[in-house]
Amino acid sequence: MSTDIPSLQPPQTRHTAVVGSAFLRVPPTVAFGPGVARRAGEVASQFGRKVLVCSDRTVSEFVPAYDAVLDNLDRTGAETRVCLDAMPDVPIGSVIECFATLGHDPVEVIVAIGGGSVIDTAKLLALLLSHSGTLADYYGENEVPGPCLPVVAVPTTAGTGSEVSPVAVLTDPHDRVKIGIASSHLVPRAALCDPETTLSCPPTVTAYSGMDALVHALEAYLCPPRPDAWEAYPGEVFKGKNPLSDMFAASAVQALCPGLEQVLREPTNLGARTAVLFGSMCAGVAFSHAGTAGAHALQYPIGTLTGTPHGLGVAILAPYVLDYVKDHATVQLAELASMLGAPACSESDAATWMVDEVARIGKLLGIPTTLAAIGVRADDARRIAQDASKIVRLTKNSPRPLDVDDLETIVIRALRGA
Ligand SMILES: [Zn+2]
Repeated sequence: MSTDIPSLQPPQTRHTAVVGSAFLRVPPTVAFGPGVARRAGEVASQFGRKVLVCSDRTVSEFVPAYDAVLDNLDRTGAETRVCLDAMPDVPIGSVIECFATLGHDPVEVIVAIGGGSVIDTAKLLALLLSHSGTLADYYGENEVPGPCLPVVAVPTTAGTGSEVSPVAVLTDPHDRVKIGIASSHLVPRAALCDPETTLSCPPTVTAYSGMDALVHALEAYLCPPRPDAWEAYPGEVFKGKNPLSDMFAASAVQALCPGLEQVLREPTNLGARTAVLFGSMCAGVAFSHAGTAGAHALQYPIGTLTGTPHGLGVAILAPYVLDYVKDHATVQLAELASMLGAPACSESDAATWMVDEVARIGKLLGIPTTLAAIGVRADDARRIAQDASKIVRLTKNSPRPLDVDDLETIVIRALRGA
């Protein structure tokens, strides 16, 4: 059984050669490999002794690394408090309740151990513990006024990339779609990515979150570059792709495509789990800069309408969105196809091969092939398209402009399985 990080080919990115600037905004410490979660206490002790551990009941019961993190905190002499009330999809009420239970006792660092919802809850608690006001004051991009309490993130699923990203997503009942808070101040101070923590991840969570990671990488790689965006720093959080984000996106696709197939067959194979978590982390870095696009914009209203998991929705949508934008991103799709060893053929055929490959992997992982399968109806299509078109921070990242009619066309095709 191999636990090596997958060997990767350097990306062949002709189209990015014209971009004159590149940048990375990542946690100052990123540790990857079996066993790194067991050092969480030592990493957290750099930031203080008063530690809040943020997690949920499932992780505390079923993920062995949870106890290892608490033991390590004990050994470093930390004064540890635990909050296990993080909830799936981060309802705003759950964050406010967690915050209220903290009272006036100071917290110096938060250790988050769990999936994306746990890490996002920790980021939002760090925000509330550092700045006055309500979470609604910070909705959108770059509204957080300054640094937040340090978060040490230990992911137990491979998908959201929240451990390296500047984003926290929450559900607010006052809005019809999920809300994101994106700010460079929400990037965790350390990401400890330990594939052993994902060994107990159930098959459906592995499939949905793994496909989510693959879509993060694809949408980041297909995003148009915006060479001037860097001059407005900090400004918008998502600044288009750049050669550094491309390196991470390409590495993610190369790790995830074979890794997801293998992890499906052998869920306890640490080598396969390593590839998928590595891909998910790389995809997180890539979309933290480039942003995500059409599949994510459509999934926000579809997720609200159907109550289906985020990864399931983006996985169903991805082949339809990719097919729709394919002629505007032929070179990029062909590059990815070549990295995955597609048979020699024309650029256009290689782009089609790549779209088919995403559909094939989704099917293999048990992802339904139509939106009808998750309860979307034909008369929902227009409203979904209208709601998605308002999420300009995502639609602007599409290589093909997406207005309401474009988005409705994609939804209708995905409904029928066209
Ligand atoms: Zn996603």
